[in-house]
Amino acid sequence: MTLEKALAALSTLIQPLAATHEVPLSEARGRVLAEDVVTALPLPPFPASAMDGYAVKSEDWTQGRTFNLIGQALAGHPFTGTLAAGDCVRIFTGAQVPVGADRVVLQEWVKALDERTITFDAVSAGESYIRPVGNDVAQGEIIAVAGTRLGPITIGSLAASGIAQVTVRQRPVIGVFSSGDELIDISVPPSALQPGQIYDSNRRTVMELLRNLPLEILDLGCLNDDPETIRTALQQAASRCDLLITSGGVSVGEADFITQTISDLGELVFWKLNIKPGKPLALGRIEDCWILGLPGNPVSTIVTALLVGIPLAAHLAGFSPEPPLRISAQLDAPLGHQPGRAEYQRGRYWLTKGEPKVRHTGEQGSNRLSTFRHANCLIEIPAESGDIPSGARVTILPFVGLMAEA
Ligand code: AMP
Ligand code: MG
Repeated sequence: MTLEKALAALSTLIQPLAATHEVPLSEARGRVLAEDVVTALPLPPFPASAMDGYAVKSEDWTQGRTFNLIGQALAGHPFTGTLAAGDCVRIFTGAQVPVGADRVVLQEWVKALDERTITFDAVSAGESYIRPVGNDVAQGEIIAVAGTRLGPITIGSLAASGIAQVTVRQRPVIGVFSSGDELIDISVPPSALQPGQIYDSNRRTVMELLRNLPLEILDLGCLNDDPETIRTALQQAASRCDLLITSGGVSVGEADFITQTISDLGELVFWKLNIKPGKPLALGRIEDCWILGLPGNPVSTIVTALLVGIPLAAHLAGFSPEPPLRISAQLDAPLGHQPGRAEYQRGRYWLTKGEPKVRHTGEQGSNRLSTFRHANCLIEIPAESGDIPSGARVTILPFVGLMAEA
């Protein structure tokens, strides 16, 4: 199965959680809007001056004419009188335009003769420098659509419309497991590591990759390579989670029990993707709980978490993340690739005279977390491609577009 097919399958198979609740705007950051928001308040709510100057009636406005200055209007302090012929009001940006005025003359064009009288040097038609009611947002307009992930600007726009509470989707509960007899928790000091043991890094990485998404994340620890342990743990976790993400134990080794356990307890939807790294990726379900089995090699875990785990979690949470940004860059060093699987190498891109260039970060073994050390993108190599010479164009996926921030 190709990555595209797997992603398409996810979005048709997996229904977003239906439950919703209300939150105040101050707690809405990163949450997914459950309903369209319609505003009852036009913006601006009154005709407002766009500049500092003098509010006049345009019919009065002829060259050389003097005006009686009858008051002033500041933002938050409207002028309450009405303009008669030949009157003007000193006005500042954001102030309500007084009744009777239909134009603001910029202060640069005006000469004050004395405290009560002004005149203009020139008359120019065109702009009224008045923002009419609803100029920004009309009454009844949809100002935020269901499925939007609430970021700083949407939240600010809701505040501008006086919307203090929003209905958001409930956050899916995601349990994260790692698996492997060799894995040791970070609480054990390096001096206490026994032969053959390594630290469990995947559980941490996966939780951190998901941290900014609207999810409730449960750290479910590390499972031993024992079918009974895995069976009990998956079954219990499935009853309290909407999605389980595991790493390790999905290959065809003697100690790989995750896929078999999913089949025994529920259903394995697919297993094996045509990508490198990440081939043994598995998707299944136990009753209402989806299970994503990521391969254990740390680079494979990260690449599949980015390309499949984040979109899947986002889908459950009720939003579609922007598709990863794919840009064309020129290779600055050759890439080796055998036709067969689409490959995602770690690379570093930069701009030379505005043009993106990219280079891989060294030997690309799927165990080598160090290939991420200087990386800022994945280089996407099509399945059918062979070796690619320096100077050729390739597609890169910058990390900024892959890590769903809000
Ligand atoms: P597996 O898919 O279980 O065969 O694991 C493949 C490789 O990834 C093995 O070398 C494991 O030791 C390593 N690995 C598996 N899980 C983790 C983990 N949570 N943290 C670090 N390395 C892991
Ligand atoms: Mg293992």
